[in-house]
Amino acid sequence: MPKSKNKKELLQNPKGTRDVLPFDAVVWQAVEEKAREIAEYYGFRPIRMPHIEHTELFTTSVGEATDIVEKQMYTFRTRGKDSLTLRPEGTAPIMRAYIQHGMRTWPQPVMLYYSGSFFRHERPQKGRYREFGQFGLEILGAEGAVADALIIRLFMLVFEELGFKKMMVHVNTLGDKACREDYRKDLVAHFRKKQNYLCTECRRRLKTNPLRILDCVEEKCQEIATDAPQCIEYACDACKEHFREVLEFLDKASIPYFLDHKLVRGLDYYSRTVFEIFTETAEEKKEEVPVEVSESADSESADIEGGESKEADAPPPKKEEKPAHKEEGRPLALASGGRYDSLAYDLGIQEPQSEEEEAWKGAVGGAIGLDRVVEGLLSQKGKGIKKENPKVFLIQLGPQAKQQSLLLLEQFRKNRLSVASSLSKDNIKNQLGFAAKLGVSYSIILGQKETIDNTVIVRDMETGMQEIVPQSKLLDYLKKKKKK
Ligand SMILES: [Zn+2]
Ligand SMILES: [Zn+2]
Repeated sequence: MPKSKNKKELLQNPKGTRDVLPFDAVVWQAVEEKAREIAEYYGFRPIRMPHIEHTELFTTSVGEATDIVEKQMYTFRTRGKDSLTLRPEGTAPIMRAYIQHGMRTWPQPVMLYYSGSFFRHERPQKGRYREFGQFGLEILGAEGAVADALIIRLFMLVFEELGFKKMMVHVNTLGDKACREDYRKDLVAHFRKKQNYLCTECRRRLKTNPLRILDCVEEKCQEIATDAPQCIEYACDACKEHFREVLEFLDKASIPYFLDHKLVRGLDYYSRTVFEIFTETAEEKKEEVPVEVSESADSESADIEGGESKEADAPPPKKEEKPAHKEEGRPLALASGGRYDSLAYDLGIQEPQSEEEEAWKGAVGGAIGLDRVVEGLLSQKGKGIKKENPKVFLIQLGPQAKQQSLLLLEQFRKNRLSVASSLSKDNIKNQLGFAAKLGVSYSIILGQKETIDNTVIVRDMETGMQEIVPQSKLLDYLKKKKKK
């Protein structure tokens, strides 16, 4: 039996969760709406997936040795003894759905978007919750770099149109499974030499998931990671070329990016491109030298499992820009994602056997962290979010008027006229005060007499002038007023 809660606890939401109250929820919806509008315009279609999945889906795709699987999943046994998990991320469920519903035979690529809650048992902090919202974009059945660039571009568009400034994309390549092995070996060798200086966690990671050492938050590990071999140096020609193309697309779209060789993302299914998007600049992460890759494919990409990379041996250092929204010395990305070409195979699907099957090869995606984006907007007082204020306030006085007001409201709704009203018992003075606060242009007053006469009084809130108007003519009357 769960331990019983005292009354005080009963009235508190669980740690790491939160209520999004109406004012903030409006901003939340506006963010989702903006992302949805852009996604739809570019041909993405909605998908809704369950919040629970078989635990194995995540252990085999995200990876046993990842933070998510090791310590962050909400996993439980059902009465039928199945092990289910509250989804900690959206990519594995997307791939599961793609395979399960035969989407590999659809015209490729299949472009999907989703929005909803995900769950990870992490230490809560600003911008990070145990139940968190994500808006995701996924392109399945696309190997080309243009798909990677499109995902990044659309996230940038969403942020720009929401009013975010100084955006910066951190990008890296992890190579693929074929070319990552050598990198992994050299990386382990590098860290092994200095393993006594690594934190306990990283000493363990050395055996399980060495790439993760690159983005350890411990300073001593960061130091040792600085001169670690870089993923990009180990990438095969095909991986390098792919990365070069991604960067070329970003250049063409004038998207500012930063080659972040320590960016690995920490999930096993990533290969090639990984990215994170930040806003604003902050103090530099010491000892990370940002570099910009020139358009020539002189940079080598590395491979990593789990996805993370180090500095590219590329051209000249560029001014370092570091994201602001920090926590634990590390900034929180507004959006992140990457390519997951081998995820389908990890889930047991055979590699394509014919040219026809080739079509579904390759997948890339990412997600916006809605909590952080909403918090970012709220900290700027919702800048960038346009709220439509109602133009008219409907005041009703007395029980009959209340009934009739519901019919009137329904007419307004069908004519898409936005009307505010109060179903309270308030007197006319209070209701008018409320209307004034909302800043409406007109109040429509429906009292006992008007109810019997089938009229209303329309009050111009600016001048205070009042006019009696038959209910049947009210819509026309307001439309004419609106035009003036
Ligand atoms: Zn460490
Ligand atoms: Zn490769």
